Amino acid sequence: MSLTEPFVLPMAGDPETEAFFAATDAGIFPLWRCQECSTVNGPNERSCRRCRGIEGEQVAAEGVGHVVSYVVQHSKPDSAGTTYRLVVAIVELDEGPWWWTQLAGVEPDEVRVGDRVLLEMVTPEGGRAIPVARPA
Ligand SMILES: [Zn+2]
Repeated sequence: MSLTEPFVLPMAGDPETEAFFAATDAGIFPLWRCQECSTVNGPNERSCRRCRGIEGEQVAAEGVGHVVSYVVQHSKPDSAGTTYRLVVAIVELDEGPWWWTQLAGVEPDEVRVGDRVLLEMVTPEGGRAIPVARPA
């Protein structure tokens, strides 16, 4: 069985991830533009991937990108013997940064490198908003 709906577990976050989840809770995928060279970096990049600068300003991603690579994760059988498949992809945002995410809304056998995707925020009950990709 394929899990084509978003599969996200509640995450409480911590001081290290608070700025990220504050942005995603507001519907924003947070990137930052380097003050030195204007390269747009991902939220998990502590220094600029081009010049290693550490100063910059937050910018919101458009939430559009394409699949760079992906894997199909297979679960162990549950108590009824059912196994599940879930697509986890590396998405390159149009701004440049790469992001690991679930690719929902598509059967694992239908995913292709280069597929255009959109990010959406999914908030599990009791958790923070988590970005998930879907085919554009
Ligand atoms: Zn830079």
